[in-house]
Amino acid sequence: MVYTLLEMFREIMEAVGEEFSGLATHRYVGEIIQYHRLQASSGYRRAAEHAYQKLLDFGLEAEILSYPAREGVTFWAQPSFQEWEAREAVLHLLEPEARKLADYREIKLSLIQRSAPFEGEAEIVLLEDGLEVEEYEGLDLEGKVVLTRGDVRRVRYLAVEKGGAVGLIYDGMKELPGLERRLDNALQYTSFWWYGGERKCFGFVLSPQEGERLRRSIKGGSVAKVRAKVTSRFWDGSLEVVSAFLPGESDEEVVVVAHLCHPQWSANDNASGSATLLEVARTLHRLTLGGRLKKPRRSIRFLLVPELTGTYAYLAAHEEGLPKMIAGLNLDMVGESQELCGSTLLVERLPGSTPAFSGDLLERLLEAVAKDTLGYAGAGGYPSFRYGSTPFLGGSDHIILSDPTVGIPSPLLIQWPDRFYHTSLDTQDKVDPQMLARVGKVAGTYAYFLALAGQEEATWLAWEMVTRFKERLVRLVQEERRAGRELVKKVGRLQNQGISGLRSLRRLADIELKGFESELSSFARRELKNVPGLRNQEGVKSRENEWEEEARRLVPCRLYKGPIPVTPYLRRLGSEERERWWRLEHRYGNALWYLLPLSLYWADGERTLHEIVDLVEMETGKRAAELLVTYCRTLSDLDLLHLLQR
Ligand SMILES: [Zn+2]
Repeated sequence: MVYTLLEMFREIMEAVGEEFSGLATHRYVGEIIQYHRLQASSGYRRAAEHAYQKLLDFGLEAEILSYPAREGVTFWAQPSFQEWEAREAVLHLLEPEARKLADYREIKLSLIQRSAPFEGEAEIVLLEDGLEVEEYEGLDLEGKVVLTRGDVRRVRYLAVEKGGAVGLIYDGMKELPGLERRLDNALQYTSFWWYGGERKCFGFVLSPQEGERLRRSIKGGSVAKVRAKVTSRFWDGSLEVVSAFLPGESDEEVVVVAHLCHPQWSANDNASGSATLLEVARTLHRLTLGGRLKKPRRSIRFLLVPELTGTYAYLAAHEEGLPKMIAGLNLDMVGESQELCGSTLLVERLPGSTPAFSGDLLERLLEAVAKDTLGYAGAGGYPSFRYGSTPFLGGSDHIILSDPTVGIPSPLLIQWPDRFYHTSLDTQDKVDPQMLARVGKVAGTYAYFLALAGQEEATWLAWEMVTRFKERLVRLVQEERRAGRELVKKVGRLQNQGISGLRSLRRLADIELKGFESELSSFARRELKNVPGLRNQEGVKSRENEWEEEARRLVPCRLYKGPIPVTPYLRRLGSEERERWWRLEHRYGNALWYLLPLSLYWADGERTLHEIVDLVEMETGKRAAELLVTYCRTLSDLDLLHLLQR
């Protein structure tokens, strides 16, 4: 084995670091957040036009692509939906005292987004959260509004659709795991989203503090009455994807994506990612134009999208080009001031079903940028900010790109958690220009390196991947020595992924991988040999229940590219199935963001669902037989997945 050049990315990173401006990016954030950029709305369209104009001003090739925003259209299995806008929305308390509670003109988040028009007076009925059917027994909701802290989709269904209420007032604040946030005066971003054919209604949002005040007076026996006026409309329209292009020598592409949508202000989520993408595009254009960096082998495609929907729409419309898109990067919430927001800058790795070079490269680049502080004597190098990496957690556009049926392995750069996430306090003062500069340096180097990569770069990357494999393996063995056969299985899986990852380098260049593969495999063998008595230990027996048994009989075959959401299809389910799905959603919470896509990723038409449950458990630590059987059965009932019976 011969070591190739150390840090082949160094020169690129220096050039990008000098050209990329964190301050200018911070200024673009300030421009983007002026728009109320809900996906499929005139506010979003204006933001898209603004970004498009900037890209042209920078000298890039750019276009605005338009996709239908109306019901009855799907992008693969993702249904489209109508545009929406509100002109006016005010909520006045009339009794027990008169005061204004919410005004959309002052703050866009004071309305539940995608509210239906309404004008009238109504009494408030107090719900704790309103998630359970029993909570509604004996309540007369006809013509009233409910005050709730519960999930607005669920409450809309139970209170409005079933109970006859006319609207909702939401005064909750969602908790974030790993971070305490006491935001008594903030408004939580809420939306009725789009589920097709649901009974529409209006809703307002109050801060937890305002809500508490109202709750106290109702509990104290007062009758509370409000007057609400919402002037809003839904219509068949369009949703836009801004696409910019930095041409390379071939028709292959590296894809950088950021979602431009979200309500005003939503500065870190995701004006920060969008602004960074704009400045990366400008930086690489400038550097290649001026000759500091040569014209790369591959082109770089920059996409600003309405989150998920826009990525589905774009990829579905460019299906024949997918094999040419060799890797991607998702920039989502990257600008956080870590002090204020409590965040850590994270690389989210690729899913186990899509092992590739891109995750390792991104981690390597972030580590290089993190050595930004020199020791007392000017030597060394250590981070002045928090950073790390996490397994695949889903939740944004990379879940579509990284799906094996799409095949654009795309890690995510994100700052998480963020104390102000999805609230009215996600404002520009929480965005740190220095952090934007770091992320720009990583993202620009990543995109250009992969656009440039040929034989030499791929060989360097292979070495880097083997090194990272060894690190991970040593840690795994160290942490799970007691796991017995389970450990052997885990090592085997890591090894398979390592080898598949190496083979993905053939997308960059025709390189000889034998030496790397055998180095990787023999290292794994050596490490396992060092664990005494391993093979004699009993493995953990998997629990057998009806779900596990059923999973053994089912083989899911995919009919659509990309992950498949259930929520937009709930209307087509019977109320019992719907209730069952809600229970599972409630039980698994945000874990659905990765459990469901991961299960589809592994579905290759040969594996049984039971094997998939095992693989997902190995990857996430969660055994979800009931969830995954129900998910696949539901998709099959909806003709979105084919289920073979064994
Ligand atoms: Zn968001």
